[in-house]
Amino acid sequence: MAEMKKQLVLSLISCIISTQAYAYELVLPKAKKMNVNSNYAFFVGRARNSESIMINNLRIYTAPNGAFAHSVKLNDGENRIIIRSSYNTQIYRFYKNAKKAIKDETVCEFEQLKSGIVLKDNEPLFATPSYSEIKRLAHLFEGTHVLIDASKGDFYRVFLAKDVSGWIPKKGVEFCEQKSSEPPSFLNMNNTRYKNASVHTISFTENLPYTVEERSDEIIFKVYNPELSDASVYTMNIPKPEKYTYQVAMNDGVYTFKVNELPKDVTNCTIVVDAGHGGNEKGAIGCLGDEEKDINLKIALELQAILQQKGVNVLMTRECDGNVSLEDRVAFARNNNANIFVSIHLNSIGDIPININKNRGTSVYYYNNNSKDLAKILESSISRNSKTNKDKVRKGNFAVIRPADYIGVLVEAAYMTNPKDSMLYRTPDFASNVAKGIADGILQFVNADK
Ligand SMILES: [Zn+2]
Repeated sequence: MAEMKKQLVLSLISCIISTQAYAYELVLPKAKKMNVNSNYAFFVGRARNSESIMINNLRIYTAPNGAFAHSVKLNDGENRIIIRSSYNTQIYRFYKNAKKAIKDETVCEFEQLKSGIVLKDNEPLFATPSYSEIKRLAHLFEGTHVLIDASKGDFYRVFLAKDVSGWIPKKGVEFCEQKSSEPPSFLNMNNTRYKNASVHTISFTENLPYTVEERSDEIIFKVYNPELSDASVYTMNIPKPEKYTYQVAMNDGVYTFKVNELPKDVTNCTIVVDAGHGGNEKGAIGCLGDEEKDINLKIALELQAILQQKGVNVLMTRECDGNVSLEDRVAFARNNNANIFVSIHLNSIGDIPININKNRGTSVYYYNNNSKDLAKILESSISRNSKTNKDKVRKGNFAVIRPADYIGVLVEAAYMTNPKDSMLYRTPDFASNVAKGIADGILQFVNADK
């Protein structure tokens, strides 16, 4: 009898323990005590069916599948956040570091112009001395000679012409001896038109810095020769086709600027489908523990099948769960002369003042002007096909869509961390619906009448 009683008590205890463990499961936060710099703490997870969850005495929304997500604004110092269900109460402690006062880094002007040399290809020339600056005037090539006239923080100011300058990361450039010989000089300029492209070359005796600007109907390619004079700028005004891509190359002082018109028939296009993340990089984790990389790949494979059926040359940056670096994804697209690059992702939360439950649906990012129209079309066609909300079309500074060599868009099909979206992306036909939306949008974009 005593043994039976003991058994009963034990099973009762284990039942309570398992019920407690099952009241809710949290994907975020990852620990009960954390030191953070962020402004918000995020509570993302799943509640047991019909279990109500309170966070700091606020009853939070739970989707029918149990998914919930909640953000709590943090104050400097210690923040105690209490999460409660009818079975248990847990206390989370976030220690928010007070923001350090931003160092007032003033511009330090040099007494004399210094000569520098760019150390590697693709070195960004920013509009302001900040890595978060979205505007890049150019991506300079290795061996470009630059004149530097000031420094601020991690950046040097590159003098291009009177009242024209850009900022280059200090680690991207090395000072070299001022050359005593003749300043670089212009050699020649040449424009060649082909049926669907135009090629513009401009030659100098040295590797000089350049910028690209876009107007509504033209692309302005400029090469600066500040060693000759502060007004020495060589400008090429190149007519812009309605749908276009462009490439800049430089070799031994010769710039080649090529503007390509997008093929008017999708069967003549090479489309790179890029399933975001993969391997160790899981991407965002959903309320119920789903990993973004898996959903991205499902959508990408569905898209590949649809586009191949339409006769498109489709190339995949990954077809299974593996690591692929951002540089490799870009190089792959460039080497294969991709016309269009679609990067597929699902969104998560950022450290911005948001209502986590309101951030849902499809957003599409572009970086270059040539990709904005496709981004707009895709936002509509994806949300139409997969029943997601329209979140937004935004300019985004992502490495895979930065090159203008192709029309580049980054799709965030839905929010991994949104409880309502989790009801959508877990349905069996979500991936094929998103893929159909993307394929429809691409066809509409490419085939649209002039
Ligand atoms: Zn992602």
